[in-house]
Amino acid sequence: AMLHWGYDEHNGPAHWKEVFPVANGNRQSPIDIKTEETKYDPGLPPISPNYDPTSAKVILNNGHSTSVEFDDTENKSVLRGGPLTGRYRLRQIHFHWGASDDVGSEHAVDGKKYAAELHVVHWNSDKYSSFVEAARQRDGLAVMAVFLRIGECNSQLKKITDRLDAIRAKGKQALFTNFDPSCLLPHSLDYWTYLGSLTVPPLLESVIWIIVREPISVSSEQLAKFRSLLCTAEGEAACCMLRNYRPPQPLKGREVRRN
Ligand SMILES: [Zn+2]
Repeated sequence: AMLHWGYDEHNGPAHWKEVFPVANGNRQSPIDIKTEETKYDPGLPPISPNYDPTSAKVILNNGHSTSVEFDDTENKSVLRGGPLTGRYRLRQIHFHWGASDDVGSEHAVDGKKYAAELHVVHWNSDKYSSFVEAARQRDGLAVMAVFLRIGECNSQLKKITDRLDAIRAKGKQALFTNFDPSCLLPHSLDYWTYLGSLTVPPLLESVIWIIVREPISVSSEQLAKFRSLLCTAEGEAACCMLRNYRPPQPLKGREVRRN
């Protein structure tokens, strides 16, 4: 049986259902977005991120990805608008990538995968009192996804990739302050939206997904730095984080809307 989930043959996405039966649920993520089947909704307003750079706290390696964690004890940094009712408070950002530059994103667009995907995770602070409580509710979380396409070196992303050497091993963290994640967003915030789940165990079906349509750039060298992170702690036999994406899941009748 699967002891610790991961992305290897013995503990990867195909095995997660053994311990997390919701993996076969009705609103799982990611999905392949079939653009011709998305529905234009003129009632969908623009999304409106409003982040305070002083709420950034640390960058860390959790063994599955690297994340920047934010102070979410107050509504300092919030996302509103789009399909959301009320304010969703910024909790953390993290990345998904692949073993080579032609795969790595979790969502696909008409079957096409990007090199990587950024997730900006928020929770409904108008209705719930903590991230943990919100993560169990149908409208608890809002995750904004941004695709990364191979191209020029991304100078904003460099703020993160320059720190990865300091958190190479699982469990390591470093101070990371004065950072506004909206510096990573593309020019246009046009989006697709649908109801889904976390893409890592426990795969809770609590996420309102907002998939930004315009990708941002990342260089092949920058992406290689993500792959040099270790999914093992200091002192263990080193194992690189070569891939950490879940493949697209069945749509099961869900509607994908666009603004
Ligand atoms: Zn994610």
